[in-house]
Amino acid sequence: MVINERYKKQELVLGKEGQKKLAKATVAVVGLGALGSNCAELLARAGIGKVMLIDRDIISLDNLQRQHLYDEEDVGKAKAVVCKEKLLKINSNIVIQDELADITWKNINQLLKNIDCIIDCTDNLFTRMLLNDFCVKSNIVLAHGAVVGNKGSLYVVSGKEKACLACIYFDKISHETCDTAGVLNTASCVVSNLQANECIKFLWNKHYVEQNFLRIDVLTNSFEKLRVKKNRNCLVCVKNEFQYLSGKIEQKAVHYCGSFQYQLEKKNFFKKEYKNIVDKLKKLGKVVDLGYCAHFDDLTLFLDGRVLIKAKDEKEARKIFDKYIGC
Ligand SMILES: [Zn+2]
Repeated sequence: MVINERYKKQELVLGKEGQKKLAKATVAVVGLGALGSNCAELLARAGIGKVMLIDRDIISLDNLQRQHLYDEEDVGKAKAVVCKEKLLKINSNIVIQDELADITWKNINQLLKNIDCIIDCTDNLFTRMLLNDFCVKSNIVLAHGAVVGNKGSLYVVSGKEKACLACIYFDKISHETCDTAGVLNTASCVVSNLQANECIKFLWNKHYVEQNFLRIDVLTNSFEKLRVKKNRNCLVCVKNEFQYLSGKIEQKAVHYCGSFQYQLEKKNFFKKEYKNIVDKLKKLGKVVDLGYCAHFDDLTLFLDGRVLIKAKDEKEARKIFDKYIGC
């Protein structure tokens, strides 16, 4: 019997057939911060056949405390690009696709084509609800994780009988965020390990997929399993009104969790404009152009027309946008 050297320890648990199931699977990791980068690393090491990496952000110094795939030399580079480079060094036998993009109702169907499982590692309720709409409508498993401070949570959306994320977060109120409560790297590691674990179990043997909502506190080491009831009036999983997926609820300026950073978008943007704007900015000061994004002062311009701006509030961000990018 020929045993694949790389996976021999894992095959002792999952079996040869189990390993083959992982090799055939395509998994999307949405968000490559503390949860996503760790999750993606585990999935690549485990031999998931194709890992899709989706993230809109660049690496900043304060990410390094908890996003351990990245190092000091990566600051200023795109998370999706760096993540792909590092994962290919870990496992060159799998397919890794990077998408430096902000996932929205306009591109989600294109980005998440032919996916077996989606891992929600995003940091905002809006994108979570968009993923939830997509997964409920397409009947795709969504391994949701969240972490704030020393606490984390995990829930797997799967099947028509179980509650969806909208049943759980029906009040749409985002309580504490990592802006106000910070985040411990140990908490994000615990949650992301569990997300990758649920994904692997789903692909291998659905019987083991967690049915409850898990609430974790790494200060007290408590792991609570909460039964979640389906909301019989849920707009998403009962009434099938996909307001996020249809674009009825759309996000304008995006505030990035954990930073004074705002994302604004240039309307009717064409790729060729990128160079024009970069040339214009070069006349005003130092520009670091990486090809897929350009840094200028407190502003980062992407090839898709998105602009990240460091500012104290949205008003100031819009002012900087108008000054350097124009509408
Ligand atoms: Zn629901």
